[in-house]
Amino acid sequence: MITLFRKVVVCWLILATCCALVAKPLPDFIQPMLTPKPVPVMPVALTVAKPERPKVLLIIDDIGDNYRLGKRVIDLPVTVNLAFLPRTPFARRLAQAGYQLGHEVMLHLPMESTTRKDLLREEALTQSLSESELRQKFFENLSDIPHVRGFNNHMGSLLTTLPQQMEWVMAFAAERQLYFVDSRTSSQSVALQQASEQGLRAVGRDIFLDPVGDQASVEKQLNKALALADKRGVVVMIGHPYRDTLDVLERRLPQLRKDYQFVSLTSYLNQTSTLAKESQAQQRDLKTLK
Ligand SMILES: [Zn+2]
Repeated sequence: MITLFRKVVVCWLILATCCALVAKPLPDFIQPMLTPKPVPVMPVALTVAKPERPKVLLIIDDIGDNYRLGKRVIDLPVTVNLAFLPRTPFARRLAQAGYQLGHEVMLHLPMESTTRKDLLREEALTQSLSESELRQKFFENLSDIPHVRGFNNHMGSLLTTLPQQMEWVMAFAAERQLYFVDSRTSSQSVALQQASEQGLRAVGRDIFLDPVGDQASVEKQLNKALALADKRGVVVMIGHPYRDTLDVLERRLPQLRKDYQFVSLTSYLNQTSTLAKESQAQQRDLKTLK
């Protein structure tokens, strides 16, 4: 039996050697014997990466004049960027409470507008002020609100169009490493560009939630903002402490927080270097939505 096996092996070796010498392919019945069998691969569980939820930067500004409405804002069940008007009766108290609840605190800096001179606040930055006067007002307003990380403009449809004044203001802000959000109260605003030139981290507002103060229009603006977040991955929206706005937010946010990440400006800006260039791209995206 062993002898027979040896003969078979020897014949097989001779045949394989001959084929190799004449460079001929081995007969079909021998090829599978020489080909190593594939090692079976254990199936690996497929892990599908969950797409990141779009980010929503929700800013509520004009806070400070009304305690009850301000309290409703800080009680919203998501991270809110709270922008406080300086020299208002409840700003400091609400800023402190909002900060302790984990919200972001911003200064809502009053600036001169082209219209409504009647609404101009005494602490507003105006075009008639010199650089040193602007500087004094800027830091007085800043020191009035605790825990400020950045600022946006209250009104300012005139001042944000003035390159020199914006350069000064952004240079003051750079001293404190603040970020800037252009509320975009004028299409001619140069604030974002000046912020970028002074090295500030900055973004522009995409959507106002409540330009018309009824619930149906707030819903419509909110949906428009969310569509933009879905498309682009992030949206910057500004609302106000109006009853209708808060009614809509209180109703919608418990569900929306499951599908969107409501984040602070600081955490968003820490993950990205969003400067004027990207904000201009945001503007283009906005136009395609209109
Ligand atoms: Zn405002």
